[in-house]
Amino acid sequence: MARRCGAYKIRPAYKTRKISALAAICLLVLFTLLIFLTQFGLLNAADYVRSTTNNENPAPMSVIDNNQSKDEVTTPRTDDSPVLLDDNQSYHYEPSVNTWQLILVNSTNKLPEGYAPELATVDQGYEVDYRCRDDLQQMLNDCRAAGFNPWICSAYRTEATQQSLFNNKVASLRSQGYSPSDAELNAKKLVAPPNYSEHQLGLAVDIVDANYGALDDSQASRPVQKWLMENSWRYGFILRYPADKTDLTGISFESWHYRYVGKQAASAIYENGLCLEEYFSSAGYAPVFMADDESFG
Ligand SMILES: [Zn+2]
Repeated sequence: MARRCGAYKIRPAYKTRKISALAAICLLVLFTLLIFLTQFGLLNAADYVRSTTNNENPAPMSVIDNNQSKDEVTTPRTDDSPVLLDDNQSYHYEPSVNTWQLILVNSTNKLPEGYAPELATVDQGYEVDYRCRDDLQQMLNDCRAAGFNPWICSAYRTEATQQSLFNNKVASLRSQGYSPSDAELNAKKLVAPPNYSEHQLGLAVDIVDANYGALDDSQASRPVQKWLMENSWRYGFILRYPADKTDLTGISFESWHYRYVGKQAASAIYENGLCLEEYFSSAGYAPVFMADDESFG
């Protein structure tokens, strides 16, 4: 269709210049606006994507401090934090959020109040925290595949069970002539009092050789124990009370007691020849105290 020539008018030159200037200003404003959006809008979006995709193991709610900004809480440290070796090859652990597999329970660190892990069943009908169940089962399977015969003889214990074990030990010492206070004192060296035992975490398991069930020093020389000491770290477990760390753990050598700490921590502990107490202290990493934490699951 032909245009109507009458629609066109010749503009005076000064008007054309005015329109060009106006367009240039508009473009400048638009450009500035775009830069602004790129700097703030798009970068924030990228951060958000990064923080949500990295968050496979979100921090327990307890680590979210109300004074923290939203950006800070969207990037919690996860699970096992990376273990780094610095230039001097000294070991350190990057401070992390509280994680379920790194709760320290020993003679001076009580189990969190009302702690009740969700349990799953393993060999012989024993129960452990469901989160370490698959690694434990894999470890037992691989140990068997290597030709050995591991046998669980203790795993998760309730507070009542631990109390009963402790009472039995006290009674046994009393029957040997110990005074009530001495019996209790000595019992603590052999059996953890209720709420001071890792077994209540559901992360500790006693494994013996099926052909030799005694919990004594010779258990350490059984093929099962040798295999476990060499390989348990691959599955996230550590020999919790090594022979050369009794002064630090406060517990005599127990070649049968394995504790789940996660694969990264277990690897660092194994490679650096540490016990769990050293692992925390050498790193300046505060042990996880969850006693007042209501949200911990
Ligand atoms: Zn044990």
